[in-house]
Amino acid sequence: MTLSRNLTRVLGSGPLDFALTPDDVAFRDELRSWLDANLISFLEHWGADDDQALHLTGASNTKSEGFARTQERRKDWQRRLDDGRWAAINWPVDWHGREATPIQNAIYSEEMARVRAPGIYNANGIWQIGPMIIKCGTEEQHQRWLPGILSADDHWCQGFSEPEAGSDLANMRTTAIRDGDHYVVNGQKTWISSAHLAQWGLFLLRTDPTAFERNAKHEGITAFIIDMRTPGIECRPIRDITGDTMLNEVFFTDVDVPADCRLGGEGEGWQVAMSTLGHERVGTAGLSITMAADLKSMISTARAVNPEALNDPELRDRIGRAFTAIELTRLLNYRALTKIMKGLPNWPEVPLAKLQWSEISQTLAELGVDLLGPAGLLLKGGPDAVDGGTWTRSYSWQRYTSIGAGATEIQKNIIAKKAIKLPRK
Ligand SMILES: Cc1cc2nc3c(=O)[nH]c(=O)nc-3n(C[C@H](O)[C@H](O)[C@H](O)COP(=O)(O)OP(=O)(O)OC[C@H]3O[C@@H](n4cnc5c(N)ncnc54)[C@H](O)[C@@H]3O)c2cc1C
Repeated sequence: MTLSRNLTRVLGSGPLDFALTPDDVAFRDELRSWLDANLISFLEHWGADDDQALHLTGASNTKSEGFARTQERRKDWQRRLDDGRWAAINWPVDWHGREATPIQNAIYSEEMARVRAPGIYNANGIWQIGPMIIKCGTEEQHQRWLPGILSADDHWCQGFSEPEAGSDLANMRTTAIRDGDHYVVNGQKTWISSAHLAQWGLFLLRTDPTAFERNAKHEGITAFIIDMRTPGIECRPIRDITGDTMLNEVFFTDVDVPADCRLGGEGEGWQVAMSTLGHERVGTAGLSITMAADLKSMISTARAVNPEALNDPELRDRIGRAFTAIELTRLLNYRALTKIMKGLPNWPEVPLAKLQWSEISQTLAELGVDLLGPAGLLLKGGPDAVDGGTWTRSYSWQRYTSIGAGATEIQKNIIAKKAIKLPRK
């Protein structure tokens, strides 16, 4: 309840405005019709296999038998979406997009969550990297890279973080030094999702190492698109808390990157990075629907395998609190959208929504396991694992939500500084 009191203090208590324009209604209805016409045939073809679990947990295991099939399934779903012009709704119309407004983005997220739509092959490429290439790239770069992203032929990764540059991203040290018509890259990135599967990566590199001496570390950073098969690049998978190996350390030793692979001007990487991170936050609107469905689903599972749990007053209380927090998140998203519709800045809802997402994801993950009782200990892959071990895996995996996409303490710092305006020492 402390969180709700703080939210009220930060947000005030103005009215919400949920009205959709006729264009938004048409957008939603067209999407619903498309999903009605296409999702069932897709599921009939592929079956409702473990993709739902992958969607729930946000990761997949390269070692699992179904991994290759899941990748093919995701490619197929992305291609079908693209056929209907529903894969890249934020892209320009000329690039098979819809130039969707923020409200339409929210409608899209909600509708996709409502039907529990399958995951796509390369969400990173579609939602973050593609828009950056569109915004910062040349016409030649558009023609070179956008088709492969859209068609799910190419997989992309995003390489920003380094061992000493995570929350403090500007501290990055991996260098790209110009040498004629190319740059020579040396250094190390870390925590790079699916780098070992990617054909291409969008990297932030330091083209001006003197920025540190000048006490201006946000300067001298440049964005590059790098062919992951270039000699001198080595991906070393990191085994995460769940046992999966989708994250990587990426080492660069004298890697030649052609100058025409630079995205934007030299020193403009920070702006590229910030707008990419901005895109990362689009789409939280569907989360409350997904989380509400997860809560419902874990309650029915408990009813089937451990019904006594539902008589436990402490667990009942936690279910009630989770339900309330999810509803609060839904309203928070609507509030942010209302502000956008009125031309107002939609923050501090953005960092607040990130906090809500991570807190509720972890709350649900713990609740899911506790509701299962002893069966909550049965690991994914085991013969008796409940719901394929989804809840047990989620218990460990969801720890990432308080560090990925902006760590909790950083979000709190932003709110404290910019919204509550707490005094600084
Ligand atoms: C599942 C997952 C996938 C990822 N995928 C990618 C990817 O594809 N590409 C990529 O580039 N990166 C990726 N990352 C890395 C991610 O961006 C970083 O983990 C994140 O930026 C945090 O950086 P860090 O790990 O270095 O932690 P740190 O920044 O070292 O933080 C460690 C702890 O210290 C706290 N802290 C740090 N600074 C402050 C401060 N000023 N005040 C108070 N507390 C502070 C943090 O909140 C955190 O609790 C991924 C991470 C995860 C977990």
